[in-house]
Amino acid sequence: ATMPPLLSAIATAGRHGVLVKSAVAMERLGEIDTAALDKTGTLTEGTPEVTDVSPLPGSGLDADALLALAAAAEHPSEHPLARAVVGAARARGLRIAPATGFAATPGRGVSAVVGGCVVEVGRVEAGGAGDAADRMHLVGGVRDLDDRMHGADGMQDAADRRSVVAHGMQDVVDRPSPADGRRNPARSDLGSHPHPHPHPHPSAGTTVLVTRDSTPVGTLTLTDRLRPAAPAATAALAALTGTTPVLLTGDNAHAAARVAEATGITDVRAELFPEDKVNAVRDLQLAGRKVLFVGDGVNDAPALAAAHSGLAMGRAGSDLALETADAVVVRDDLTAVPAVVRLSRTARRLVL
Ligand code: ADP
Ligand code: MG
Repeated sequence: ATMPPLLSAIATAGRHGVLVKSAVAMERLGEIDTAALDKTGTLTEGTPEVTDVSPLPGSGLDADALLALAAAAEHPSEHPLARAVVGAARARGLRIAPATGFAATPGRGVSAVVGGCVVEVGRVEAGGAGDAADRMHLVGGVRDLDDRMHGADGMQDAADRRSVVAHGMQDVVDRPSPADGRRNPARSDLGSHPHPHPHPHPSAGTTVLVTRDSTPVGTLTLTDRLRPAAPAATAALAALTGTTPVLLTGDNAHAAARVAEATGITDVRAELFPEDKVNAVRDLQLAGRKVLFVGDGVNDAPALAAAHSGLAMGRAGSDLALETADAVVVRDDLTAVPAVVRLSRTARRLVL
């Protein structure tokens, strides 16, 4: 007997490095009319590097101690940012202390007990200062970090606070140690602007805050590389669907804008929580769209499940994403995404 077209397409997809889990999944891939893409680990390689380590003055930590502390808390996590932090600590030969009571909050960060202190690494969240449940969710970008610093111990004046925050945003590590801060003329400039952006090319990196017993002790900046195939794959999806793909990311607006620009994406939604990603997919579908969502993280699992078709990137992908998705890009080649949509369309024409 000849193989039914959809099964034949599954076999072909397999040869292209895409594991499609069922004939129904194969069929639905060809029905999509809108692509929504995660950024980190999907359009980017998902192997970020630590490009800046900035202890806060008054924290009593130097850069190595801050990195080692963050690595201890991140060690149990499988998140790409966590692996980067641990990798950077190892590369510097730092001892990573054992952690207990580890907890990860998808799309936000991690928390663990290290050396008797609660250490948290994650986003800076708007609002919620003083709310114990919110303390680890350090989200909302630089301005909110700046605001939060007003209450921090060891921060003597506003100029100090702002310079520390500004350093967290820097891609290029070319700065005096925190101890020299007051004598640095570049820093005194910062004091005259409420929310300065002293660096002419703001980092596309992700800046995360490290706290110890709820007190901010420093920031880490991590920078990821675009996948070389991302612009072509995005353009192919735009051509196939007739609409611009949507970028849905938990990362900050700067990092999102850089990737959007490089891939020609104009619909960018940044600083999303996992629940925001799934709501974005649902809203598109309520408006009549059939959405293909491509993601890799634990944070992407609800959106993968809600989408008409969910596709997970396999290499760096979390187990939850791979299990939830309708298909997995095993060979980690982003051009396989439009290819498998095309394959499905061809198979469906043969079925109908
Ligand atoms: P994306 O949507 O870009 O794949 P996530 O939703 O996984 O990203 O994460 C969103 C943001 O939450 C990150 O940019 C980072 O600020 C923070 N975050 C998530 N997990 C961690 C972690 N393990 N360590 C530090 N920060 C984290
Ligand atoms: Mg991701």
